[in-house]
Amino acid sequence: MNKLLEEIKNCKKCSLHKTRNLPTIYCGNFESKIMFIGEAPGKNEDETGKPFCGRAGKILEELLESINLKREEVYITNIVKCRPLKNRDPKEEEIQKCEYFLEKEIEILKPKIICPLGRYSSKLILKKYLNKNLEIGDAHGKIFKAKEMLIIPMYHPAAAIYDYKKIKVLKKDFKNIINIWTKLQVSL
Ligand code: URA
Repeated sequence: MNKLLEEIKNCKKCSLHKTRNLPTIYCGNFESKIMFIGEAPGKNEDETGKPFCGRAGKILEELLESINLKREEVYITNIVKCRPLKNRDPKEEEIQKCEYFLEKEIEILKPKIICPLGRYSSKLILKKYLNKNLEIGDAHGKIFKAKEMLIIPMYHPAAAIYDYKKIKVLKKDFKNIINIWTKLQVSL
């Protein structure tokens, strides 16, 4: 993991490295079997190098608390490690160039449950591991089986900043994580 973190810090594969302050490296527990994958860092994350440390992070913590989990018990990362300026959506090229790091994180962590957060992350993970082209509106909250792991896509927590009704949907979908996690632990 340390080698990978060094590679992320030194990465110049796309133009985002020119304007970033710090790349986001994972936060939480690097031995956790539950992995959350966001999209790209915003201003706060760019300043601290920690994923989900701003408003979206507060909502993510609220969602985790709703299923009795703490940030320190899960692994949180992003598909794109450096901040796209003005918080624009990540470009296809940036996602592709950064994919190698996520692949390595998954290889090292060997998560049992992966929760992509938001449409870009869900699209990437569902295509990569299941060859499925699904929109987040259809995929959220569903449980997909891929080799050794389960994939449960979620709406992005930031969606609840502008549309508070989304928090209800998110909380309902998050329950699936804990239900599955409890079952997995019983069968281990
Ligand atoms: N949104 C993301 O997708 N990732 C972050 O780290 C912060 C906000």
